[in-house]
Amino acid sequence: MSTPMHCPGFEQFKNLKSFVCKCPECSKENEIFSDEFDKIHTCTACGEKIDFKQCKAETN
Ligand SMILES: [Zn+2]
Repeated sequence: MSTPMHCPGFEQFKNLKSFVCKCPECSKENEIFSDEFDKIHTCTACGEKIDFKQCKAETN
């Protein structure tokens, strides 16, 4: 059994999840990372504020 080598930054990214939330205004999918979850985000398409705390993770 071999142990794969990881770069030093690997452990950080392991805890970093990304979420996709559809804009309520224009349905554009906006992606954020878990470390940005508490920040205010705006839609990349229409500029409306998106509250990611109310966003449900959609799994297809
Ligand atoms: Zn939008």
